[in-house]
Amino acid sequence: MPKIIPVADELSKTFWDGVNDKRLILQHCAACDRLQYPPKPACQFCGSGEKLEWKDVEGKGHISTYIVIEDGRLNRRMPDQPYNLALITLDEDTSVNFYSNLPGVPPYEVPVGSAVEVMFEEVAPDQLIHEWKVVG
Ligand SMILES: [Zn+2]
Repeated sequence: MPKIIPVADELSKTFWDGVNDKRLILQHCAACDRLQYPPKPACQFCGSGEKLEWKDVEGKGHISTYIVIEDGRLNRRMPDQPYNLALITLDEDTSVNFYSNLPGVPPYEVPVGSAVEVMFEEVAPDQLIHEWKVVG
């Protein structure tokens, strides 16, 4: 399924370099011990800009909810409709969420509450994206 090809900027470069290395690296605020995603110039919880660092996370989560895209407006994705769009909550910090198409899970058959693990898909030469697969 064609995916959106990410374009890294200065702020997200470390994240995308990690993805291309098959690692999930998120911003971690040392001041308040929280993770955040997507990357921001300052901590979204305490506002600290100096205490943000990058941290490898385990890449384990759960499916919180999902919708099925039946009539979306992204041209690249129209041939795939309907497709799942699930909200993944990271186990290490439940304030961190990701969207996933849950490769391999048929539309409308998303097992809400199931455990998932990060995986990586190639969307262009030398460009991976993070995705999530149901485990167990
Ligand atoms: Zn903070």
